Amino acid sequence: MAPARARLPVSGRTTVVGIFGDPVAHSRSPAMHNAAFASLGLDWVYVPFHVGADGIGDAVRAVRALGLAGVNVTVPHKEAVAPHLDSLSPIARRTGAVNTIVRRDGALHGENTDVPGFVRALRRAGVRVAGRHAVVIGAGGSARAVLAGLSDLGAARVTVANRTLARARALARRFAGTVPITAAGLDALAEPARMADAAIVVNATSIGLRAAALPPIAVAATGPRCCFFDLVYGRDTAFLRQARHARRPVMDGSEMLVQQGACAFTLWTRRRAPLAVMRRALCQST
Ligand code: NAP
Repeated sequence: MAPARARLPVSGRTTVVGIFGDPVAHSRSPAMHNAAFASLGLDWVYVPFHVGADGIGDAVRAVRALGLAGVNVTVPHKEAVAPHLDSLSPIARRTGAVNTIVRRDGALHGENTDVPGFVRALRRAGVRVAGRHAVVIGAGGSARAVLAGLSDLGAARVTVANRTLARARALARRFAGTVPITAAGLDALAEPARMADAAIVVNATSIGLRAAALPPIAVAATGPRCCFFDLVYGRDTAFLRQARHARRPVMDGSEMLVQQGACAFTLWTRRRAPLAVMRRALCQST
C-alpha cells in the first residue's frame, strides 16, 4: 500500500471547498476529501462550516464572496438551499434537494450526488430492488434521493413512513408517475402485513444523529434477505442493532457517503476520485 501523502500547506493559492450543516462536527467528509486531495497532490482543502437553520442564504452568499470552488450541503439545508442558486441539475430539480454546489464561471450550480451515491452503494452490496417493495422511513432531503434511486433501480412500489404525514404525502405527489408511493405515519412500520414483502427498509431520518426514540418496526415480519439500510454512517444505530439481532442483512451509510463524495469530488476537480483512499480515510477517521 502506498504511504499516505501529507497535504500541502494552506496558502493564498489553495482552493477551498467545504460542507454546510447543523450538526456538522460529526462529519467525516473533511477527512475523506482532504485525504483524496493529498493523494492526488491537489492544493485543495475541505472545511466544515456550522450553518444554523436560518443561515443558509448568508452561507451561500459567502460562497460567492469568498470564492469557494463549491460545498456539500447536509442536514437540514438540502431543500432550502435551491432558491439561492443560479441553476440546478435535472436530478436536483427532480428531487428538490441539493447536496453539492459547484461554482462554474462564477455561477453556483446545484447537484444531487446522493442519488448516484445511494444507487452505487446498493449495487456494490448486491441488493436487488427491481420489481420489489421498498420501505423508506423519513421524508427529508435524503429520502428524496433514496426515492429517485429506488425509482431508477426499478422498484415496483414504495411505502414512505414519516413522523409528519403531510411531508410523506408531499413526496408521494412529487414522485407521482415515477414509482407508486404509499404515504404513511411511523405507526405503519409496526404493521407486519405492511412489512412482509419488503426487499429493503431504508432509514432516511436523522434519528441516529439525535438522542431520539426509534419507532417500533416489525422486523420479524420481513423476509430473511430483507436489507436494513441506515443512511447514518459510522454509528451502530438502534435501527441496525434490531435488524442484526433478527439476523437480517444490514448496511450503514458509509459506502453511500464515499460514493456521493466521489461524485462531488469529480464535479469540483474534474478528476477521477480515489475511492480506495476515501474509504480508508473514512474508516480511520473517528
Ligand atoms: P432532513 O432533511 O433534516 O430530514 C430529517 C428526517 O428525519 C425527516 O423525515 C424528519 O421527520 C425525521 N426525523 C428527525 N427527527 C426525528 C425524530 N425524533 N423522530 C422521527 N423522525 C425524525 O435530513 P436528511 O438530509 O434527509 O438526512 C437524514 C439522515 O441521512 C442524516 O442522518 C444524514 O446524515 C443522513 N445522510 C447520509 C448520507 C450518506 O451519504 N450516508 C447522505 C445523506 C443523508 P419530519 O419530517 O417529521 O421532521
